[in-house]
Amino acid sequence: MDIVIILGAPGSGKGTQSAMIMQDYDLKPLVVGNILREAIANETEVGLFAKSYMDKGDLVPDEVIIGLIGEALISGEFSGGRGVLLDGFPRNTVQATAFDAMLHTKLSTSLSCIIALDTPEELLMERMVGRLYCTECGATYHTTYKKPKQGNTCDLDGSNLIQRDDDKLEVITKRLEVYKQQTMVLTSYYSSVPCYRNIPATGTPEEVYKSIRQALDSCLS
Ligand code: ADP
Repeated sequence: MDIVIILGAPGSGKGTQSAMIMQDYDLKPLVVGNILREAIANETEVGLFAKSYMDKGDLVPDEVIIGLIGEALISGEFSGGRGVLLDGFPRNTVQATAFDAMLHTKLSTSLSCIIALDTPEELLMERMVGRLYCTECGATYHTTYKKPKQGNTCDLDGSNLIQRDDDKLEVITKRLEVYKQQTMVLTSYYSSVPCYRNIPATGTPEEVYKSIRQALDSCLS
């Protein structure tokens, strides 16, 4: 099973690029933020617990997230295809270390490709402020850069688009701070791994995706 990680700050375009990757490569998405938002919508115990952290822009505690990832990967839900594309995990070195151990001991595999999107900070804020999100399928849009075709509805399933609770200005500022304090270090954590690829993410989504394809094609067998 191929395991691909996509790393990047909030607003770096992970979601947009993941959607394009999935059209071309037989990888199933494991999007931690979407799993958490679904748990919140279903008012599960994990969802209610996670909401209090997410609404403040904090990371949900590691043991909960590591548990969710372990369960998902071991469930067999991701077998059958080429592998899995992880978006939103790991987000700090505790999660990365636990994930390394999980891959070796429970899944007998290792990382196939690590894509690190490199985006200047000034772009991140404006990308997030205008972001809209489909309540049904999780697709993302932007009030300036990626307008929905019809009003405030999803191009894919016609459902309502909303702003995420954590895309409000004060929460965005906190999420960027958490990223700098805890997640950014993962680029050096992984930089010595042969399948690590740093991708400048300032161009159009198509330009960025071209570099991602080159990275994936050089790493996946
Ligand atoms: P973004 O990457 O744009 O911040 P996500 O949807 O990936 O958006 O994450 C939203 C929120 O979900 C985060 O701010 C955090 O509270 C929580 N979250 C997502 N992934 C993790 C993770 N690996 N560890 C802890 N919390 C997480």
